[in-house]
Amino acid sequence: MRFDTRLIATATLLAVPATLAKADDTPDKYPDSVLYDAPIKVAEGVYSAIGATQPPTYENAGHNNNLSFIVTSDGVAVINGGASWKLAEALHDEIGKITDQPVKLVINENGQGHSMLGNSYWTAQGVPILAHEEAAADFIDTEGPRGLEALKSYALENAEGTTIVEPTETFTDRKDIQMGDTRIEVLNLGPAHSPGDTQVWLPGSKVLIAGDIAFSERMPPIFEGTCILCWIETFETALEPLGAEIIVPGHGAPTDLATIRHATIDYLKDLRAKIAEHLDNGGDLSQAYYVDQSQWEWMDTFEELATKNAGVVFSEMEFE
Ligand SMILES: [Zn+2]
Repeated sequence: MRFDTRLIATATLLAVPATLAKADDTPDKYPDSVLYDAPIKVAEGVYSAIGATQPPTYENAGHNNNLSFIVTSDGVAVINGGASWKLAEALHDEIGKITDQPVKLVINENGQGHSMLGNSYWTAQGVPILAHEEAAADFIDTEGPRGLEALKSYALENAEGTTIVEPTETFTDRKDIQMGDTRIEVLNLGPAHSPGDTQVWLPGSKVLIAGDIAFSERMPPIFEGTCILCWIETFETALEPLGAEIIVPGHGAPTDLATIRHATIDYLKDLRAKIAEHLDNGGDLSQAYYVDQSQWEWMDTFEELATKNAGVVFSEMEFE
């Protein structure tokens, strides 16, 4: 067990006991591959290579989100381009170990680098790529250039070959796809974590590949401009009614709805309640960073995100 010194420093700052080690801080679980970990079977025909629940590093090569795929009787659909050419290529190698079916479609979950930078590999294989129009715009204007620069700085040689490649097709509301015997519903349930959040719903198996509207095991990041109330509303009014039995979140292990709800929505609600209380007491931004989030310290990336998130929520709520 290794104690993260930054965690202890943050914990001391927050005056909570520094007793929690992170759930899993293995630098790389699959040294023979660029992937952080090999794909696991989530349900019949559904697999996911679960990324590190840590920030991107040289060791995890930027595989810190979940790269999933659906094997049908007429091809494979991949969910998420991956953070780089090499990660996409490594995932493709793993797909080849599980099925002879060719990859016929890639779906990007949002506009972040780790959803879309691997498009460079997939388009070179002639595979069509589908993304929500807002995610595509976010990727081209902002997230792609920023993500590529970051990738080159931490992944070094593992960034080779990666370029910014737009999806070949975009959708607005939803896109229903029949691939062989599998119905795949590509959804945009509403505003949540970032522009054009995309969820892939398999009504046949009740599996939801949810993207970044859903987290488990690690703290959700709240970006400036993210509408947290919208995120909560989209989750409660559109995601929950789907009745998913298994959810593959954007980050963290696949699990059930209750677990995802706790690690995502209960956290967002609690942070809003803490900031509301702080505002009621006349608190300012400089102290808002330190509202008590110790209840969430078990989550990975707590030390990187907790204070930042509090600042963003303060800025959002200040004018409500
Ligand atoms: Zn993400």
